[in-house]
Amino acid sequence: MTMTNWSKRTKAVHAGTRRSQYGEVSEAIYMTQGFVYETAEDAEARFVALGDDEFIYARYGNPTVAMFEERIAALEGAEDAFATASGMAAVNGVLSALLSAGDHVVSAKALFGSCLYILEEILTRYGVEVTFVDGTDLSAWEAALRPNTKAVFFESVSNPTLEVVDIAAVSKLAHAVGAKVIIDNVFATPVFSNAIEQGADAVVYSATKHIDGQGRALGGVILGTKEFIRGTVEPYMKHTGGSISPFTAWLMLKGLETIDLRVRAQADSALKIATALEADGKLPNVIYPGLTSHAQFDLAQAQMGSGSTVLSIDVGSKDAAFALLNKLEIFTISNNLGDAKSIATHPYTTTHQRLEEETKADLGITPGLIRLSIGLEGADDLLADLRAAIG
Ligand SMILES: *Cc1c(COP(=O)(O)O)cnc(C)c1O
Repeated sequence: MTMTNWSKRTKAVHAGTRRSQYGEVSEAIYMTQGFVYETAEDAEARFVALGDDEFIYARYGNPTVAMFEERIAALEGAEDAFATASGMAAVNGVLSALLSAGDHVVSAKALFGSCLYILEEILTRYGVEVTFVDGTDLSAWEAALRPNTKAVFFESVSNPTLEVVDIAAVSKLAHAVGAKVIIDNVFATPVFSNAIEQGADAVVYSATKHIDGQGRALGGVILGTKEFIRGTVEPYMKHTGGSISPFTAWLMLKGLETIDLRVRAQADSALKIATALEADGKLPNVIYPGLTSHAQFDLAQAQMGSGSTVLSIDVGSKDAAFALLNKLEIFTISNNLGDAKSIATHPYTTTHQRLEEETKADLGITPGLIRLSIGLEGADDLLADLRAAIG
């Protein structure tokens, strides 16, 4: 099939499909750890060089996993992908595969808690130096970059304060010193992402979020050039055990078929809800990159063409936040995002609890902040639920 001219919608449904001799319509789950060889010579040949549609062991690759990898790579506009057991296996994998002692990394400081742990606590134990900057401040990126900077790392939209980092501008600065640009792109989603085109060398997703989109399984993926994925990422991943299960890869593969419809519907609802809550004027702060009041509205539009599926509100205090959360009837209190079910999270006491008081304040994670992941319910029902809880 000639895939290159297909839209994201078409790629999300058809890219990467491999049919068995039975001609199944829905992709098969090859729930096998290994593969048999006709002869000893065949086994030897396959270990010397793997052909295009050949497999050895599920930690190295599997036909169902390959379908997921090819489909998400097509959707993202990347040459290749390696699927992982979770989003964190992807973040750890891409950084550990690339970095060595003596290397320097510049990272945005507003990060998912576990990403911060890898950069702050793990990589530094192996002699990698990490400098944290305000991701929205281009002069801070420029000042932190050095000749030995091997990589820059950031979330293109930060969690939970929804700051947007300028992918094209940071990539230009990073490439000038020869550093690779690695982006955790969860909040942007593969639907709104143009990260590779805008300059990213590698893009990482937690597939647990919008790719599954139905809260069923952990998964992740690393995307990049064929050379980077097969030459740098795969050798690390296949020997260290963070590969995805074929069953999970199948869930994610099927998740991709509907991701465009789901994420666009979720983002439409998020914009509607954010706009209405801001107009109500009852909250100290409504944060959504799709609102013209957002400090980086223009950048969000240019980079993603949307504010995506998550908004954050500040209700002033922890007591007010807890009172609101406990009144919600449709939103569930949990810590996933990108799910069909709308989810409300209190980062200050859950996902970011571990951080020092000063760090929380610096990152804007206030006691009154609530992160709202907008799901697939009716937007009017969600708005009514929030308005009733706000009072
Ligand atoms: C959830 C998340 C991760 C980690 O993904 P898991 O699948 O939970 O391991 C990493 N980065 C961001 C931005 C996330 O939201």
